Amino acid sequence: MQVMLKSPCKTVEEYIAQEAHLKVRAPERCPRCGKLHSLTHLGYYPRGCTDSEGKVREISVARFKCSDCKVTVSLLPDFVQPYRMVNNTTTQKFFNGDTTSTDVQRNRDTLRRYWRRFVNMAGHLKQVVGCSLGRGPPKEPAAGLWQRILAKYRTLANATRRLVSDFRTTCFGKYLCHQPG
Ligand SMILES: [Zn+2]
Repeated sequence: MQVMLKSPCKTVEEYIAQEAHLKVRAPERCPRCGKLHSLTHLGYYPRGCTDSEGKVREISVARFKCSDCKVTVSLLPDFVQPYRMVNNTTTQKFFNGDTTSTDVQRNRDTLRRYWRRFVNMAGHLKQVVGCSLGRGPPKEPAAGLWQRILAKYRTLANATRRLVSDFRTTCFGKYLCHQPG
């Protein structure tokens, strides 16, 4: 399963330059079975994520294994969006109406797909997250929901971390918590 890590690095470039994956420590408790100190380091796997200029870079993601329930846990830095290539800052910029920045321009078609996905998932998201965002108007458009998510969590990185840990979802749909990796 994947767990979002509050990363000290805000960008892919920092994460790569600082070799931040080497500093990722095992979570104290197994996120599946809850056992203490049961996670041991398993290694790293490569994953693509866009940098500040919108170019895809490869990063290493740390993986751990629970000695008790045998689950594999990967710790995704929170500038990454689970199962998606474009980083959270760029996605947030686009969702906020930025269409001119280089990183946005380079990934515009992908970002348009992300937005359509968000619009399609808005109903599901409202159901799952419910009143924790405060009450929205009855026929609220997806743009309104996006504004309420930002108002509560400030950034897409924060929102994703919290949505995954508290609600097992992301802004783009149900979180596949049992997917290997
Ligand atoms: Zn476990």
